[in-house]
Amino acid sequence: VRPVELPGVTAHVGASLDRPAAMPPNVVGILPGSDPELRNTYVVFSAHFDHVGTAGTGSWDCRPVGDNRICNGADDNASGTTAILELAEAFALLPERPRRSLIFLAVSGEEKGLLGSAHFVDNPTVPVEAIVANINMDMIGRNHPDSVVVIGQTYSSLGPLLHQVNDRHPELGLTVADDLWPEQRFFYRSDHFSFARREIPAIFFFTGVHEDYHRPTDTADRIDVDKVTRITRLVFHYGLAIANQVQPPRWDPAGLDEVRRLTSQRR
Ligand SMILES: [Zn+2]
Repeated sequence: VRPVELPGVTAHVGASLDRPAAMPPNVVGILPGSDPELRNTYVVFSAHFDHVGTAGTGSWDCRPVGDNRICNGADDNASGTTAILELAEAFALLPERPRRSLIFLAVSGEEKGLLGSAHFVDNPTVPVEAIVANINMDMIGRNHPDSVVVIGQTYSSLGPLLHQVNDRHPELGLTVADDLWPEQRFFYRSDHFSFARREIPAIFFFTGVHEDYHRPTDTADRIDVDKVTRITRLVFHYGLAIANQVQPPRWDPAGLDEVRRLTSQRR
């Protein structure tokens, strides 16, 4: 092909650009399982790793404190993100790998409407039907040192299993509480919801809101590091139990009905 000049001819070329305003990433890591069959099934640990930016710059419900407009997110959700990183390292260091494969998922856009986790379950990097469980952590570093609220316990076998695992680890000194604030509808408010929407048994570790929630004062010095460490250890033992069980977690029939009702209200 040779370029040819066309005297007197004018061409107009146009294109419309339909680009989203931003493309924040999800970060996905995988630890392949050791069992020839169970390794084709997956346990997903998730936490959102971005937050709400600066106060007064958008629709965020983050209010400035004096001149400080940076909405630090130490509890919401550096605490959960740190747990994901520590879990990945701990599982990778085991002399014997867990039987199922483990996915460590750090998502964006939780605060904008669970965008990253919704994208993951709708465009999964593994077959979505092979994901047997989601364990989500969002704000696990504050409030009473010895208790953790775990939301979604009554919907599937993940709840009873968690209590069995916690009973085997009294050294952690943790009390697993059920949802203390059902009227706040936290079941809708973090990334486990995206997995539940796809009918994947899901459960949500959370230590509750506080006066620094969505404020510049959600800073690292206010985190109970010992508590985050103990919760992360509990999630490690729990995740290992799920990964090594031949039977995948099962919905409770009434729980699945309830989850279908909840997720159909907000799809
Ligand atoms: Zn959060």
